[in-house]
Amino acid sequence: MLTIKGLKTSYGQIEALHGIDIRINSGEIVSLVGANGAGKSTLLMTISGLQPADSGTITFEGKDLLKVGADQRVANGIVQVPEGRQVFKDLSVEDNLLLGAYTRGRSQEVEDDLDRMYEKFPILRQKRRNLAGELSGGQQQMLAMGRALMAKPRLLLLDEPSMGLAPLIIEEIFNIIKELKNEGMTIFLVEQNASQALALADRGYVLETGRVVVEGTGRDLLSNEKVREAYLGM
Ligand code: ATP
Repeated sequence: MLTIKGLKTSYGQIEALHGIDIRINSGEIVSLVGANGAGKSTLLMTISGLQPADSGTITFEGKDLLKVGADQRVANGIVQVPEGRQVFKDLSVEDNLLLGAYTRGRSQEVEDDLDRMYEKFPILRQKRRNLAGELSGGQQQMLAMGRALMAKPRLLLLDEPSMGLAPLIIEEIFNIIKELKNEGMTIFLVEQNASQALALADRGYVLETGRVVVEGTGRDLLSNEKVREAYLGM
């Protein structure tokens, strides 16, 4: 579905990604783990078009993504849930969800999708008139995911969805991710929380200072000596 080859991205003179090769097949959860500053967010932003690439290719269903802008990538079905949720705190929960569908106008179909979001996240229905800023961290994460789903993604990019959340809430978020996969969604999951992200993944990649250093099935990576030492604290 998505193929990245030899991708390089820089901030000014400083190269952050030094030639990345990654493949995401339709229906998979692929996890990308790595320490702070490894380049995980840079990679996601290069995929979604918020950061330009220097060289390399990103192909999505045969199309060359680097030739089109960020909005065109969303229209093609690539939707990112940004790190730190970034919900619109001064807008209601419902308006946040509707913003995810702004390119689609307000139609019966959008109303139906809104209803489906409320079925998936009952707490959001309960709080739909509340300001997003009044939600807890976990609820804001659900809102950010719901907003992304309202854009009808085919590839969902999740940037550290567990960040700053309590263990029970993290479990809930990871269960939602599993549920999305079971519904057929393709997911690229970026996480510092390596053990849970790899346990959930069909395949995974480890990123270190802008390079993929290990790749394999989620299970392979969980039992990989280097991964266990560096990322699982074993
Ligand atoms: P984190 O978990 O902290 O988000 P990360 O793995 O996502 O880490 P990136 O944020 O992608 O890492 O950063 C990769 C490298 O690029 C780091 O060395 C970082 O300092 C650098 N970098 C990130 N954003 C910028 C920027 N806007 N300008 C300059 N350098 C940047």
